Amino acid sequence: MDKKLIEFRKDLVSGDWVLVSSTLQKKPVFFDHVDSKPLPKSKCPFENPQKASHGEVLLWLPKRGKNDFKNWWLQVLKNRYPVIETNKVCSPVYKKNIFEFTPGSGFQELVIMRDHGRHFGLMNKEEIELILEAYTIRYHALCLEPCVEYILILHNAGPRAGASVPHPHSQIFAIPIIPPDVSRSLVGAVNYFQKNRRCVHCDMLKWETKKKERIIYQNDSFTALAPYASKVAYEVRIFPKKHEARFEMVDQEQKSDLAEAMRAVFSRIYKNLKNPDYNFFIHTAPPKESGKSHYHWHMEILPRVAVWGGLELGAGIEVVKISPEETAKLLRK
Ligand SMILES: [Zn+2]
Ligand SMILES: [Zn+2]
Repeated sequence: MDKKLIEFRKDLVSGDWVLVSSTLQKKPVFFDHVDSKPLPKSKCPFENPQKASHGEVLLWLPKRGKNDFKNWWLQVLKNRYPVIETNKVCSPVYKKNIFEFTPGSGFQELVIMRDHGRHFGLMNKEEIELILEAYTIRYHALCLEPCVEYILILHNAGPRAGASVPHPHSQIFAIPIIPPDVSRSLVGAVNYFQKNRRCVHCDMLKWETKKKERIIYQNDSFTALAPYASKVAYEVRIFPKKHEARFEMVDQEQKSDLAEAMRAVFSRIYKNLKNPDYNFFIHTAPPKESGKSHYHWHMEILPRVAVWGGLELGAGIEVVKISPEETAKLLRK
């Protein structure tokens, strides 16, 4: 592979974008293999990010009652091993023979939490609120970048979820294309809206709240449920009860309710599934598209308890070995 090849390529048939990036060949991996023993703190690159030469701190938030950097609880840094190239220059989509591509430029930030072994399942509400505060501050800052088409906030925990460092950290990607999964989700919401003049997620939430079969948790502003057609076993989604297309519009009160919903969900996943690896991410309307008001932002949480086989990869049909109804029953406790 070309040494510096970083580009988004469009599949000619499906129209889906993929990222071809050769940048990670030198990235150190701090898990030996998926069943490796926990990395000792002394070898962790996120214990003292400044010592590990991660560069400029884009944002930091202290522990409650503290205001000095020594007492940071969270810091946001540029990812030292990005899969995309940090670049403010806007690039068009180029034609190359019959194919299309655009340079893999954008921004990739790391949100590092202070405590080495304190994953979401063990965090308190106040800690999760700080993380949500950082997500929204950075989201608003990245929205100002002219070439950013989508901002994806995600969190990988554990080697099965694709994390290379076991220390709790989230990532924020600001990229020049709309990811295929988000695209499909947006198109599905538009189609439903055009047919029914209502938001598909609001309709689904109304039904689920009435039936209660797949509801896991509710508070004043948020509902957590196991989706009817879950993509993986034990999948959970958290939705704002009030229709809102954009995650970045959450106010302080909603942020507090979201933190409590996340605390409840992650602590139950930790307890009932015995601390599994997991991914979560936020799906929200693209920052530039003001006409996407029929979208309904949400958080998807995917515990990684299964490995994909041929049916998943060959047919895109995921085999979910526990029903969403059973998942909800288990995670209500
Ligand atoms: Zn650490
Ligand atoms: Zn809605």
